[in-house]
Amino acid sequence: MKTKGYAALSAKKALEPFNFDRRNLKDNDVALEVLYAGICHSDIHQAREEWGPAIFPMVPGHEIVGRVIEVASKVSKFKVGDLIGVGVFIDSCRKCSSCSAGLEQYCVEGMTGTYNTYERDGKTIAFGGYCDKFVIDQDYAVHVPSNLDLSGVAPLMCAGITLYSPLKNWGAGKGKKVGIMGLGGLGHMGLKFAHALGAHTTVFSHSPSKESDAKAMGADDFVVTKDITALKPMYKSFDLILNTISADIDLDPYLQLLKLDGTLVVIGLPGKPYAINVGTLLDQRRSLTGSMIGGVAELQEMLNFCGEHNIVSDVEVIKSDYINQAYERTVASDVKYRFVIDGKSF
Ligand code: NAP
Ligand code: ZN
Ligand code: ZN
Repeated sequence: MKTKGYAALSAKKALEPFNFDRRNLKDNDVALEVLYAGICHSDIHQAREEWGPAIFPMVPGHEIVGRVIEVASKVSKFKVGDLIGVGVFIDSCRKCSSCSAGLEQYCVEGMTGTYNTYERDGKTIAFGGYCDKFVIDQDYAVHVPSNLDLSGVAPLMCAGITLYSPLKNWGAGKGKKVGIMGLGGLGHMGLKFAHALGAHTTVFSHSPSKESDAKAMGADDFVVTKDITALKPMYKSFDLILNTISADIDLDPYLQLLKLDGTLVVIGLPGKPYAINVGTLLDQRRSLTGSMIGGVAELQEMLNFCGEHNIVSDVEVIKSDYINQAYERTVASDVKYRFVIDGKSF
């Protein structure tokens, strides 16, 4: 299928227009017209090889919302005209314990990412969502509620689910104190979800200018972290903290914020290892853990939750020729709060 998109041809180069052929539909596949594709910081990390060697040409993009334009013979979940969402993975082994439990993102054999990998045949490069068309197995796509603004839905497919899943897993809700580190694409979704779940929610940000936005999104407190000693009065008071920061930071002051049996979940992935002061973990029996996106069933649950609570991402819609500037602005924490590419601009 002829597809028009944008690709990185190497880690050192800006992205540029790129035409390519998508695979033809297999029996279980649907084709979609891409309406919007979000720009996740993970796209930037990978296009710039900050996570190690990458596969080029790379068409990034794993926050995709579209409309179904074709269905193959065995498709029953979607019909032409349906709204459809595609996230961070497009396949998995379908039989391991994780896949059987609906946790395809933790597939023991490894999930198949939406881009920067090969499909499960081992030879077809997986091209992501910065383009006008996409093909996916129906089992790995989800339905999008029709009442939501679609540009704001695209980021839910990664930024949304990546914060929804740990908030649910670690029981964020009424009576719990939750901290969100970093108010970017992921962080602002974490804030909206934590607030909707009824938790007392504090944002930790190195950008003082984001305070009024954070409060409007439901933050109970906003703490500027430029002076890290500002955290001290809050030590030993949080149940759950989600770290969405995309840069290397010292985790220790944030671990100190946890009360007895509190948990800090690392979500941001700058690429270099963190140094951990184990003494801080021993004290208060604190836990340090990680979390990665969410499974297909949970993606659908999250989208339904968003439909019911009218939650979408705050976005700046751009045309494809602005992708490189959008990358620079994202790295500079200068985006409110997700860039989303208009699929019609390819
Ligand atoms: P983003 O929109 O760029 O947001 C990151 C935020 O981190 C910024 O808005 C900023 O918030 C804060 N920050 C950036 N540089 C900082 C610095 N030098 N010091 C302190 N804070 C800084 O990125 P994103 O798309 O939300 O992604 C965040 C991270 O999560 C990335 O590393 C990404 O690869 C990773 N990720 C992980 C998963 C997963 O499944 N675990 C999924 C998607 C993405 P303030 O301005 O408020 O300080
Ligand atoms: Zn992402
Ligand atoms: Zn599996």
